[in-house]
Amino acid sequence: MGIPGSGLAKGLAVTLRTMTRKSHTAQYPDAQPELPPRTRGVIGLFEENCTVCMLCARECPDWCIYIDSHKETVPPAAPGGRERSRNVLDRFAIDFALCMYCGICIEVCPFDALFWSPEFEYAEEDIRDLTHERDKLREWMWTVPAPPALDPRAEEPKEIAAARKAADKLAAAEAARAEAESGSDGNGAAS
Ligand code: SF4
Ligand code: SF4
Repeated sequence: MGIPGSGLAKGLAVTLRTMTRKSHTAQYPDAQPELPPRTRGVIGLFEENCTVCMLCARECPDWCIYIDSHKETVPPAAPGGRERSRNVLDRFAIDFALCMYCGICIEVCPFDALFWSPEFEYAEEDIRDLTHERDKLREWMWTVPAPPALDPRAEEPKEIAAARKAADKLAAAEAARAEAESGSDGNGAAS
């Protein structure tokens, strides 16, 4: 049998220890939480990349992605060529009242048109307002964090190499044009 009152002493010791420790309570919303960069808050749509392939809507387990589109005929690129048809997006909406934040739509999009944003403060009083239409989904895009930096020893992605080559070419053409202009100005001043 233990010493009488030892249980009470132990309990008080635990209480004292806890009282003197720093509290972990976050005073939200006065203090904003520090979220990991890839937090699943809300989904942003970069509609320029969307080809209306419908994969995301088909794979969504909750059927909460609504897409409407129509077909448009594009004239041939060269004379004698064939006309082409392409899908034009009319509506893209996600119902966040149904979404379970599984991320499948983002994973399956073959064209990098959907992204996670860590924003989470979009509670609504009316459940219908939780259906975010394309304009709102686009607004979320500007809150998507930049991707993590590449490993410094990694090979440069071909897209970046191509973009750098194009930018260098443009800068060289611009410099040549400026030089030609300043040369012609100088000649004009001399004559
Ligand atoms: S995160 Fe999951 S549930 Fe939400 S829209 Fe995408 S696929 Fe559907
Ligand atoms: S999977 Fe991507 S490209 Fe296809 S409809 Fe969805 S967002 Fe658009």
